[in-house]
Amino acid sequence: MRYVEHVVDLVGNTPLVRLGTVAEGLDPLVLAKVEYLNPGGSVKDRIALRMIEAAEASGELKPGGTIVEPTSGNTGVGLAMVAQRKGYRCIFVCPDKVGEDKRNVLKAYGAEVVVCPTAVEPEHPDSYYQTSDRLARETEGGWKPNQYANQANPESHYATTGPEIWEQTEGKITHFVAGIGTGGTISGVGRYLKDVSGGRVKVVGADPEGSVYSGGSGRPYLVEGVGEDFWPSTYDKDICDEIVAVSDADSFEMTRRMAQEEALLVGGSCGMATVAALRVAASAPADSVIVVLLPDGGRGYLGKVFNDGWMSSYGFLPPTEGATIGDVLRRKDGSIP
Ligand code: PMP
Repeated sequence: MRYVEHVVDLVGNTPLVRLGTVAEGLDPLVLAKVEYLNPGGSVKDRIALRMIEAAEASGELKPGGTIVEPTSGNTGVGLAMVAQRKGYRCIFVCPDKVGEDKRNVLKAYGAEVVVCPTAVEPEHPDSYYQTSDRLARETEGGWKPNQYANQANPESHYATTGPEIWEQTEGKITHFVAGIGTGGTISGVGRYLKDVSGGRVKVVGADPEGSVYSGGSGRPYLVEGVGEDFWPSTYDKDICDEIVAVSDADSFEMTRRMAQEEALLVGGSCGMATVAALRVAASAPADSVIVVLLPDGGRGYLGKVFNDGWMSSYGFLPPTEGATIGDVLRRKDGSIP
């Protein structure tokens, strides 16, 4: 019989999938590391497992303890899944702009969700930063993973994602491309690939236009999960050989093409990273092997990037009224798939 004891045992070992039509006309091999195939649906399952195991080992998280983290998304799902397996309570703190569906996913896994007003300064006692700090302090056995400062975040990628990519490409990878949020993915995978290849592998960060990593001031953008308005300590500032800034419009267009042309229903940061990977491919030597990491799936974004009304309200699609199916599906070159 072939089975695992628990779904948490399935974290990692995600496949590489070759990108086809979106990479048409480019000589390098472009491979996507499909992280939505993790059991919690995102790359964050990896860091959740390692942050919890590191805190158990250091004694910060004790049996029966409570995990308190400001998160509304993927990290919360990963933490809730691992917490359930290991018998911890979870309290997640979300700003009120986070949709009900996302909160309900966390509740479905058995987590408690505390909602805070978005329209207050970070220093305000009701802000989601202050609330999560207070709850972690005041809850008996409380522990805050803090994915933006926890070194187990990049370490999880050094220990798992990096070696997987190296083995899957038989050491032939020449470029690694990923978006930067906490910076854990790019720093951990990038460091591993540089170490194992003697510095040969090029590491390319993908960043929303306006974010600090590509020289912006933190100007708002709509792609979720990537870009910052501050420098987290989980990001190794020396890791990237290049940073490619990608607009919301290009990110969302590619996200939709990924679903329509590659059958990869992925989130907006995946479209963004893919745009960066294809730009790298366009100027890289023909025999390059480019791996782009796709952090999550697209189901959490059905009301946004995959919703024509939402897309047209931001000017990413022509107004929906009277729009034809061709307008919605049209590729950059004007053709209709
Ligand atoms: N994309 C999505 C959807 C994410 O949730 C995150 C994590 N914030 C990232 C990309 C970036 O990954 P990292 O935090 O490892 O830089």
